[in-house]
Amino acid sequence: AFFQRAAFLSAAADLAATPPDSGHEVAFAGRSNAGKSSAINALCHQKALARTSKTPGRTQQLIFFRLDDERRLVDLPGYGFARVSLTIKHQWQALMERYLEQRDSLKGLVVMMDIRHPLTAIDQQMIGWGSAAELPLLLLLTKADKLKRGATERSLRDVRKALASTPVPLEVLAFSAVTRVGLEATQARVSEWLEL
Ligand code: GDP
Repeated sequence: AFFQRAAFLSAAADLAATPPDSGHEVAFAGRSNAGKSSAINALCHQKALARTSKTPGRTQQLIFFRLDDERRLVDLPGYGFARVSLTIKHQWQALMERYLEQRDSLKGLVVMMDIRHPLTAIDQQMIGWGSAAELPLLLLLTKADKLKRGATERSLRDVRKALASTPVPLEVLAFSAVTRVGLEATQARVSEWLEL
């Protein structure tokens, strides 16, 4: 229920600018255009909380949304945008790795991947950092409305199999911001992580 109350809190380009590291937060990661903003908006029952954008890779900041005094959602900068320089890529990698490793209030990581091309190298890097930080993971295979049932099941099976030896709790769900498949399960998991 507290998802509906989500409101913009702050944006941070580095760890020093993040809000106090207390309470619980859950972070959302994904390649640019994976459907991350649409998923956050669906989760919070808001149309324009997270910006959906036609210019992928634009946001290079961590965006914090406040749910209540002790709970936050964090929209991590989208990754995998071909046109950014190597310097920007390295800055992004360092920021992500340090945030995931050092942030005590971070209780879980949601990684979003287009169901039609999941587990790119950079997705695997993000999953690796999350598991190195001992965070439980929720992988959402987004835009599931684009595939038929059989292909959806195959993709779920393939991703689960590829990640079977990941050393942290890990759940893989089909998700669609359009049909809302996977939405309740996502809310349930994120709520669980946010429990104080
Ligand atoms: P972000 O860059 O990861 O935040 O992705 P966006 O949420 O901005 O979505 C990227 C594009 O994918 C937009 O054109 C969305 O309308 C579209 N999109 C996002 N989620 C879905 C979905 O569940 N189904 C379909 N069919 N399209 C989606």
